[in-house]
Amino acid sequence: MAAAGPEIERLIGLLAKLPGLGPRSARRAGLALLKKREQLLLPLAQALGDAADRVKVCQACGSLDTTDPCAICADPERDRSLICVVEEVGALWAMERAGAYRGRYHVLGGLLSALDGVGPDALKIGGLVDRARDAGVREVILALPATVDGQTTSHYLADRLAGADVAVSMLARGLPVGGDLDWLDDGTIAQAVRARRPA
Ligand SMILES: [Zn+2]
Repeated sequence: MAAAGPEIERLIGLLAKLPGLGPRSARRAGLALLKKREQLLLPLAQALGDAADRVKVCQACGSLDTTDPCAICADPERDRSLICVVEEVGALWAMERAGAYRGRYHVLGGLLSALDGVGPDALKIGGLVDRARDAGVREVILALPATVDGQTTSHYLADRLAGADVAVSMLARGLPVGGDLDWLDDGTIAQAVRARRPA
């Protein structure tokens, strides 16, 4: 791709490192930015600079915010007896969008994975165990993905939390809202049957 100058190549090369963007879509995105200088390129450059200057990791829960502790940890209206464990900040955002949870969070920073060589030391597990022992914490909710690594991590965390005086729960697996049985995979239907409850 020597048709463009080094600044453009650098821009596209960096865009291509973003999740979900391969070289081809990075070229399209880069071109769109360069063509829309006022509407896109300059505001994006400003937003990137602001984020780089101001966003930090919350030392309590591992979330990202412009304050440390983050707005959720600092919110006195949040139920301090609940800690919801998520894999990454994106999952925390999804939980917040759902609006069904009013406790605090703990971002693990990944999942245990024998295949990828991710052991307990690579994740924020010690901090979770410490927080679970805090006075006033009643329940730790494991909101990890329904994958092999997610399950492995949940079981490991349940073991590690056994010494703390807290209830440990997992999110239910089952039918999605609006889900038609005909369209669901066997694993989801089997989970839903096992997790059935009185009507
Ligand atoms: Zn926080």
